[in-house]
Amino acid sequence: MASVAFIGLGNMGGGMAANLAKAGNDVRAFDLSAEALDRAKKAGCLPAESAIAAITGAEAVITMLPAGKHVESVYQDSLFDHAAPGAILIDCSTIDVATARRVAEAAAARGLVAVDAPVSGGIAAANAGTLTFMVGGSKAGFERAEPFLTDMGKTVIHAGPAGAGQAAKVCNNMLLGATMIATCEAFALAEKLGLDLQNFYDIASVSSGQSWSMTSYCPVPGVGPETPADRDYQGGFAAPLMLKDLKLAMEAAADVHAQTPMGARASELYQRFVDGEGAGLDFSGIIRMLREEGEQTG
Ligand code: NAD
Repeated sequence: MASVAFIGLGNMGGGMAANLAKAGNDVRAFDLSAEALDRAKKAGCLPAESAIAAITGAEAVITMLPAGKHVESVYQDSLFDHAAPGAILIDCSTIDVATARRVAEAAAARGLVAVDAPVSGGIAAANAGTLTFMVGGSKAGFERAEPFLTDMGKTVIHAGPAGAGQAAKVCNNMLLGATMIATCEAFALAEKLGLDLQNFYDIASVSSGQSWSMTSYCPVPGVGPETPADRDYQGGFAAPLMLKDLKLAMEAAADVHAQTPMGARASELYQRFVDGEGAGLDFSGIIRMLREEGEQTG
């Protein structure tokens, strides 16, 4: 039985910590929220009184926090001075590439091994233990992290050195944001041109316009597999999280002077959507904004 500290028991971390406990690990869990700690206890984790109490003596320390500033403060304030020598530090949060690299360097300077291991897959995959992990760090760090990640997911891929996991995550999600908008606008145009949307799906899903956004996550209700569109765009991958990831991609692109015009446009459109009704909707709900704006322009 391995001893694992898990910090950040929110929508994603709650299910992930539960799966680590289910796999037989001794999970010492910490969150600032008492409700989250209570849920973790019911799921078989041992609630800790502080991050330091969770971390002390753990063989692996896993963080699943909102953003880079939370990760950096937990690492600086609690982790660096209290992690056991030889512990593997695994950050599964989605954060900016620069912070991920800085944290890994600071860990190495203290003789600790850290990897960034952001996930693909939402709350349902976190609960079901079917996440995909993309891991940045040394080969040795990857090999030490892998068994713990396997307890929480179905696919674990080494993306490259420190920060490479976050880089792969933001590139993937930038592609997803742009293809979702392109899929939505294709359906909105097809509708205006008088096409039957199921018929258009039958054509495009086996033609060159096919994408995951179309065949696995169709933004139109009643077409394709069941998706958040069939639940009035509730659940799924929240639009504000897509916007967060697009902003991270834009920051990363600016740092390395990459040209990302479609990513930039997707970021602007998701900002508008989130400023309006999108704040509480799945990211595929952006089709509503495109349809409504189409109506307003005649
Ligand atoms: P969340 O807000 O539900 O959970 C974050 C948790 O961290 C909260 O419970 C909060 O109390 C806790 N926390 C914050 N600061 C803390 C600290 N200093 N010490 C201890 N606990 C602290 O967020 P989430 O949806 O679980 O997302 C977590 C991460 O996973 C984010 O980086 C997000 O971008 C990423 N992600 C989310 C999804 C998703 O569908 N929700 C999918 C993929 C990746």
